[in-house]
Amino acid sequence: MARYTDSVCKLCRRERQKLFLKGQKCYTEKCPIELRNYPPGQHGLSRRAKVSEYGVQLREKQKIKRIYGLLETQFRNYFEKANRAKGITGENLICILESRLDNVVFRLGFASSRKQARQLIRHRHVIVNDGLVDIPSYILSAGDVIKIKDKSKQLDMIHNSLKRVKDSTYNWLAIDKASLTGTFAQVPERADIPLNANEQLVVELYSK
Ligand code: SF4
Repeated sequence: MARYTDSVCKLCRRERQKLFLKGQKCYTEKCPIELRNYPPGQHGLSRRAKVSEYGVQLREKQKIKRIYGLLETQFRNYFEKANRAKGITGENLICILESRLDNVVFRLGFASSRKQARQLIRHRHVIVNDGLVDIPSYILSAGDVIKIKDKSKQLDMIHNSLKRVKDSTYNWLAIDKASLTGTFAQVPERADIPLNANEQLVVELYSK
């Protein structure tokens, strides 16, 4: 499967905002956005022409796609699913993305980035409702319980990552740090999701 192999910090600099792709480094002053918040490349600092409406929509789509670590086809498929569902397409899209297992493992604090969460899941450290799940894109349903496998509970990366998360950070998740267990209590409302993005621009882009 195709995957992005260049520096992920360039992606943040391209969007001129933190996308939290790197893990612990994102929470330190070593984050390149703190040091040089302009697009990468030799023309990064130079003044650019006014961005077109299409350009604005495209950047917003790229940003959301990168935050959740998706490739174009996967993202487009989620959009089609959101479009078929009842309700507001843009909000549906974000709610579906938030229900992915890799995102929830990250939000619960078991991993310091969604990329690390995917690694944790693929390496078979994560249990959902008493069964091992090694598919990062697994979509959770309300009431699902996510656990770290007993044999994996000593992993330093999990405990280092947990330090950044408070027990009540997200109202749709319940976290028990002692047992490394979390509950996906409900599919979140868009208004509750801390995502600095305008998903309506994605809807407009794909509707052209
Ligand atoms: Fe983005 Fe994290 Fe790199 Fe900062 S450290 S630029 S937030 S990936």
